[in-house]
Amino acid sequence: MRIDLQGGFGEKGRTSVGISGGGRNILLDVGIKIGATGRDYYPAIDDAAIAALDAVFISHAHEDHIGGLAWLLSRGFRGRIFMTAETSLEASAMLRQYGEKAHRQAFEAAAHCVELFAAGDTIELGGLSVSTGRSGHVAGGVWFAASDGAKSLVYTGDVVPDSGVFAMDPIPPCDLLILDASYGDDAISSDERIAAIRHWVGAQPNGCLLPVPLSGKPLELMAILPQRFAIHASMRDAVAAQIAARDAFHPGIGAELTQRLANALDWSELDALPDCPLMSFDGMGSAGPSVEAIKRAADQGYPILLTGHIPPNTPASALFEAKRAEWIRLPTHPTRQGNVAIWEGAGRPATLGHSCSLAALSALKQYLPALNDTVRTGDHIDV
Ligand SMILES: [Zn+2]
Repeated sequence: MRIDLQGGFGEKGRTSVGISGGGRNILLDVGIKIGATGRDYYPAIDDAAIAALDAVFISHAHEDHIGGLAWLLSRGFRGRIFMTAETSLEASAMLRQYGEKAHRQAFEAAAHCVELFAAGDTIELGGLSVSTGRSGHVAGGVWFAASDGAKSLVYTGDVVPDSGVFAMDPIPPCDLLILDASYGDDAISSDERIAAIRHWVGAQPNGCLLPVPLSGKPLELMAILPQRFAIHASMRDAVAAQIAARDAFHPGIGAELTQRLANALDWSELDALPDCPLMSFDGMGSAGPSVEAIKRAADQGYPILLTGHIPPNTPASALFEAKRAEWIRLPTHPTRQGNVAIWEGAGRPATLGHSCSLAALSALKQYLPALNDTVRTGDHIDV
């Protein structure tokens, strides 16, 4: 099999992996890179390779994994499109927020052709089979295992081995493992991070703003916030739809989140900022109601806590650099120990890492000797 690293290697964003094998060419994810401009906003795949694709598979509906789908169609992609029902529910909204207007029609025209699968399904395409499993990252999020009968590869997409909310299926043995290295060698456990976030939120009696992506993290935060909190009103239906995907959760969590969402206050721009924690999307102030909410919070001295990746050239990074926002990671990617355990479970195969800098990969390599810390977007390798 030939593996083309089309985006997300040596960088965070525009995650995309091409696989050629078993007589088929497929693409796993087609993200965009927030903070990048021009051609670097999209994966490095060229038009000839796009035209030769038989299918694209989407792991989940975060912008760095799906945001380039309308662009791909506008560049001449005519293959099959696979995603879970949960991902497809969010796809249009994500492409509206992060895609270019000129490309949107390309997705609207193709949306009815999207083929749905469920986590755990295997899809056969000629001599290539693609197996899937729950990622533990968002409702309907999956990892992919591709095999041409001789060799196999696992691309984890974004995974969370130790989420208290979402369940993750074990990664199967493989010849090449492409890990979610978003956090490099960060070894601070979820429990420690959650305790720090609870402490910070508890110290803000007059409320605080928590910018989050639309899927995944809101549910992780809801599980640890005080009983009284608010969400931007426009998030309620999307969050409820995620909670409805009961198979995605650890036992009992779905019912608890349903209760917490029912008790959550609705907030909109017509209201004063609330005297309790307020969640709004997205997590960077680049799109959605966070654009306005972050502006107002900054103007009024209302505390802001960032809990995820802070791309450069975003409102979140400007506030953080000006010390107007604080940051405590709420882990929604593997810690160092999590990635080492995935690698060992996969039979200690050759390994790549996506969604981080080469420096962060080098740090992780100290604990994961099979990790290649030199390949970057635009490179290809043979398995
Ligand atoms: Zn993600």
